[in-house]
Amino acid sequence: MYIFDIKRFAINDGPGIRVTLFMKGCPLRCVWCHNPEGLESRQQRMYVKKKCIGCQTCVETCPQHGLVLTPDGIKQTAECTHCGKCVEECPTLAMEMAGKAYSMEELMKLVEKDRLVMETSGGGVTLCGGEPLMHPDYLVEILEELGRRNLHRTVDTTLYASEATVEKVLPHTDLFMVDMKHMNSELHQKYTGVPNEPILRNIRMIAEKGARYWIRIPLIEGVNADEENIRQCIAFLKELPTSPEMVNILPYHDIGIGKHKRLGTDYNPDELVMSTPSQEWQDHCVELFQSNGFDCKIGG
Ligand code: SF4
Ligand code: SF4
Repeated sequence: MYIFDIKRFAINDGPGIRVTLFMKGCPLRCVWCHNPEGLESRQQRMYVKKKCIGCQTCVETCPQHGLVLTPDGIKQTAECTHCGKCVEECPTLAMEMAGKAYSMEELMKLVEKDRLVMETSGGGVTLCGGEPLMHPDYLVEILEELGRRNLHRTVDTTLYASEATVEKVLPHTDLFMVDMKHMNSELHQKYTGVPNEPILRNIRMIAEKGARYWIRIPLIEGVNADEENIRQCIAFLKELPTSPEMVNILPYHDIGIGKHKRLGTDYNPDELVMSTPSQEWQDHCVELFQSNGFDCKIGG
């Protein structure tokens, strides 16, 4: 299992100030994904053109002939197996590997550095990705260890997983942060690559079991920001036996573009129309949730 980022002093990943661990691997392919380096479970090579001096050490090092120098910098061919040999040899760190394997001891050592700030701020540790439920055994191992250390545990998830997986993780999770991307399953499939039924089923399940949870909605003009979808989200959440403690509206931005470039992959290859809703519309969506009794805010 690989972790591709560790964010310290995170203030938007759950209550208080947190350490966020980003796990690699995700079954979804959201067109707007902010962390494309978290999609694949394996390690991946990333390339930063502005750091590259064109020495071609990487091209010569690669045993697979997986790289070529072009006028637009180093390009990867289909032969690259992401073995990382070129990364080791690059003199300018223009190449890096996304994803590192950590022992539990290493992870806890990193987390413990911030114990004081986590405890005094009411924070803790957040597991996100990628999709952390893709590796439930590893996830539970980390959650159990955090539990033994009395650290608050948030799992930031799509809940796109089997019921058995969610049930396995649930007793070790203090708070779920769950994305809701679209209420229409066909459109959910179009924009994320998977249907929404398992997600809605699992949200209902954690609500029935009395888990604490927040809902997060990426608000994207052209995708899911229309009033009908927002009203359907509200209707779904209102029917649940327990309510989310918070609904976070997360307006669209395209920060995934730069990371796709570094990975050598395409952002929004089908050129689907997506944009940030106006401030008035964001406020209107927040008001819709608030007027239905939900604690709702932009961001978080
Ligand atoms: S990661 Fe490995 S296979 Fe891919 S380009 Fe580098 S050396 Fe070649
Ligand atoms: S080894 Fe590094 S600096 Fe040299 S060409 Fe490859 S990526 Fe660029």
